[in-house]
This record gives sequence, structure tokens and C-alpha cells, in this order.
Amino acid sequence: MTSAAPARHRTSVVVVGGGQAGLSTSWHLVRDGVDHVVLEAGTAAHEWADTRWDSFTLVTPNWQCRLPGWAYDGPDPDGFMTRDEVVAWLAGYAGSFGAPLRERTTVTALTEREGGGFVVDAVGPEGPETWEADHVVVATGGYHHPIVPPWAPALDASITQVHSADYRNATALPEGGVLVVGSGQSGAQIAEDLHLEGRQVHLALGDAPRVARFHRGRDVMTWLAEMGLYDTAVAQYPGGVAAREKTNHYVTGRDGGRDIDLRRFAAEGMGLYGMLAGGSGTTLTFLPTLTAALDDADAVYTSICRDIDRFIEREGIDAPPGTPYEPGWTPEADPLELDLAAAGVTSVVWAIGYRPDYRWVRVGVFDGTGRPTHTRGVTGVPGLYFLGLPWLHTWGSGRFLGIAADAEHVAGCITGRPTHDTLPAAELARRVSPGPYAAAPSTAPSAATTRA
Ligand SMILES: Cc1cc2nc3c(=O)[nH]c(=O)nc-3n(C[C@H](O)[C@H](O)[C@H](O)COP(=O)(O)OP(=O)(O)OC[C@H]3O[C@@H](n4cnc5c(N)ncnc54)[C@H](O)[C@@H]3O)c2cc1C
Repeated sequence: MTSAAPARHRTSVVVVGGGQAGLSTSWHLVRDGVDHVVLEAGTAAHEWADTRWDSFTLVTPNWQCRLPGWAYDGPDPDGFMTRDEVVAWLAGYAGSFGAPLRERTTVTALTEREGGGFVVDAVGPEGPETWEADHVVVATGGYHHPIVPPWAPALDASITQVHSADYRNATALPEGGVLVVGSGQSGAQIAEDLHLEGRQVHLALGDAPRVARFHRGRDVMTWLAEMGLYDTAVAQYPGGVAAREKTNHYVTGRDGGRDIDLRRFAAEGMGLYGMLAGGSGTTLTFLPTLTAALDDADAVYTSICRDIDRFIEREGIDAPPGTPYEPGWTPEADPLELDLAAAGVTSVVWAIGYRPDYRWVRVGVFDGTGRPTHTRGVTGVPGLYFLGLPWLHTWGSGRFLGIAADAEHVAGCITGRPTHDTLPAAELARRVSPGPYAAAPSTAPSAATTRA
């Protein structure tokens, strides 16, 4: 039996992925009349609907939702959209500028064409298809394979295990206590969600830093934006390209936004632990890192507040005084073990990040850890670009705030249209001191990205 020959197409640019990064690129190409197609494995921007929990809210203020031609213009610019509001906000974007979007079309291979350009193999609703293109923009996001430890199957079969990408709400888990592993933005917010639902929560902390929600009368992320932190190229950032390895600060936008203070949760009964070291059956072991993890997270929290204070002083801004953070709970000792059965824990939520998967990109642009090598998304292979990766160019790159500038840059490389630059290093140095904006390295394996 012979399978059907792939339908053959030719275009100038293939954009792979129809999330906010792919659609932003398409907006520029449509504006400049460039023939292109956006191939999307699911539906446009579906990740927001499919991989976020029910009580999810943005951690970034709404005013930072600025895609090309599509900025948040609702009534609450300093608030935080819920999952469903984000989905609704994005729903009309592709249609708003007539993006040439082919949904339910998964790219299975990208190869270089002899003589220049690329061949893109895909499987769409009507079967296999092949695209020839001069340029390819890979905009498939930074979160491909959810990470669970290789020893997770050795846990007792009675324990329900889910990754944060599949967590929806407390009632979807069996009754009983829950261990959340990972204290990045997802882990901390899911632990809070379960805690507020009255579950007995145990949380294994990694080395994520934390940040205040508000300071001196404004949202901290609004201050940081004004200080230029989100516009600064990674190489000029305090600490340099090592920032790419670091876990984002935990904080929440829930109920109008607030700090996540794990010490307060502990005082209210949440069990806190250090880095999870291993486990089998119903017994888990932890490294003695809890005290340091709490202290380090608080140190970053305080240092960011202090840097905002210095900025306010330098710029002569009239702002109300801040309230210094006072730690209300400290561990008596770092716990080293947890017996899930004895503690009544029936589920584990893995919130330890994702591993990238570019096996379908059969072009030599990857480093030894499987990450694409590029400068602001432009690879060493002419015509091949990456977009939407966390810290691709700036802190804003993997978020709503920075994708417009990156998409403009990549589209400009294709069309020749000049683009704007990011904040010069000297201007950043004038605005901020080299504070530890993203304290410790990520706990996830080196080839992994952690959640935003
Ligand atoms: C839990 C969480 C919370 C976040 N919170 C915030 C926040 O508060 N504020 C903020 O600004 N950002 C936040 N982000 C970060 C960021 O905005 C999102 O990750 C965003 O979805 C990235 O957009 P993207 O287009 O780069 O990737 P995605 O939205 O992941 O889109 C990639 C698309 O590519 C498609 N695709 C993948 N492989 C293929 C293939 N082989 N062929 C065809 N299509 C393919 C996928 O189906 C997907 O639709 C958060 C991220 C997470 C995970």
C-alpha cells in the first residue's frame, strides 16, 4: 500500500507555531505584504486554555499585554487577567489582521534545501504536506515536555501524580494531602490554590527567588519596567547571560495581586521542605536547603525593593513609603524526609519545569544542551529564526511585554525594515544598581526551561 504523496506548497516564510510569538511575527509580515503561512499544531494560542489551572491569573500586570496591533485596552490596566480573560483577549488576534493560519497542522521535520532555503514537512487535517520556504521562524514556545523525575514511577501506585501543566483545581485530585514539588511561579501559585481550598499542602522548595507584588505605591513589575529591566539585552543584564538559567520570582496576580509568603503559609499549617532529592514507595527525601531557600528568596525580595527605593530617590519621584518585610516564621530544622502515607498525602504535583524538544529541527543550530544558538533569535543559518523563548533577548522576550519588539526584529531581518533597539547598557547602569534580580540558578536540569 502506498501512502498519499504530500501536498506541495511554496511560500516565502513559514512560521511554526501560532501562539503569541508566531502571531506577532505574522502581524509584521502581513503588514509588509510578505507571503507566508503560520502552521499551528493545535489552535491559535491554545496553550493558555489548555495548560493553565482554573484559578490562574497573569503575574504580569495587564498593561504589559502588548502584542503588535493588539494591546490590552480593558478597564483594569494594573490588574491581572484570569486564564479565561487571557484566552478571550487572544481569541480575536489572528482574525484581526487576517493571519494566514493553518491550524491542526503539526510540523514534523525542518531541513535545509540544497541551494538555499528550507523544506518543512507537516501533517495537517487533510494529510501530509510539504512547504518550501526561504525563511522559517520557529515560534513553538519554551515549554515542550513537562519534566518529572526519572524515578517518579518508583513512587507507590496509590499516589496520583500530575504535572503542573495538567493541574486544574483541588477537586480534580483525590481527597487527602498534596505534595507540590517546585516553588517557581507555577508551584508557588498551585500550592497557594490548594492551601486556600483547605487541602493539607506540602511544598518542596527549589531555589526560586521571590518579589513583592507592590512597593512604594505601585506594582513592582511596573517599577521594574520603568527602570528598564525588561528592555535590557540579556548580555547587558545584571549577571549577564546567566540570567537565562534562573527561575522566575514567585508572586501572584490573584484577587488583585499579592505577595506569596511561604512563611505565612507554613505558620498556617503548610509543610515546607528543601529540594527534593529522591524517593520510592511512599518515602521521599530532601536536601537540607529549606532555611536557605526561604532566606535567599527573602533577600532577593528585599534587594529589589531597595533598588526601587534607590531609583525613586535618584529620579526624585514622589512615592509613599514602603513597608519592610518581616519574616514571621522560621523552620526549627530542615526536614529531610516525608512519608507520604503517614502524612496522608495522596497526590504529587510536579512543578519543576519543561524540557525543550527540537528534534524535528534537523538543522545544525543547537548547543550541547539542545538549545538553539542565536543572537536575538537570528541563527547562524541564513533564513532560520527562533522566537518566543524565555530570555531570547530580554526578560520580556518570553512574555507578553517583550514579544512585540523581538517579533519586529526578526520580521525586520526578513523584510529589511529597520527596527528599534533595546535600552543601551549605559542608560540601564544609570537607572539601576547591579542587584540580584534573579537570584539562584534554576533547579531544573540544564537543558530545561522553568515556567515564567
Ligand atoms: C504557567 C505559565 C504562566 C505564565 N504567566 C505569564 C504572565 O503572567 N505574563 C506573561 O507575559 N507571560 C506569562 N507566561 C509566559 C508566556 O507568555 C507564555 O509561555 C506564552 O504562551 C509564550 O508564547 P509563545 O507563542 O512563544 O509560545 P506558546 O504559547 O507555547 O505557543 C507555541 C505554539 O506552537 C505550537 N507548536 C509547537 N510545536 C509545533 C509543531 N511542531 N508544529 C506546529 N505547531 C507547533 C503549539 O501548539 C503552540 O500553540 C506564562 C507561561 C506559563 C507556562
